[in-house]
Amino acid sequence: MNRVPIVLPVVDENICTGCGECVERCPSHAVSIVGGRVHFSAGEQCTYCGVCEDVCPEGAVSLYFEVVIAPAAGGQESLQTISEES
Ligand code: SF4
Ligand code: SF4
Repeated sequence: MNRVPIVLPVVDENICTGCGECVERCPSHAVSIVGGRVHFSAGEQCTYCGVCEDVCPEGAVSLYFEVVIAPAAGGQESLQTISEES
């Protein structure tokens, strides 16, 4: 079986109250509440959309990486342009 590494949001379990807001709002149904805390029960379905970070009333969720989807053609050119400007 091929295993694909995935990146998931990070939840500070000391801050999460288990309110379930992220579970309700996650468009991919990737999270659930287990033992009163959020759990990535279907983490492979996470699209890293950032909704859970936005809706968490406690600020318990962090997405550390910005995901940029570049077009397949011209992707290198786009990256060059960005580095030249900076
Ligand atoms: S990043 Fe998006 S898909 Fe992933 S758990 Fe959060 S709300 Fe769900
Ligand atoms: S919205 Fe925030 S506090 Fe509520 S369950 Fe999700 S991570 Fe925990």
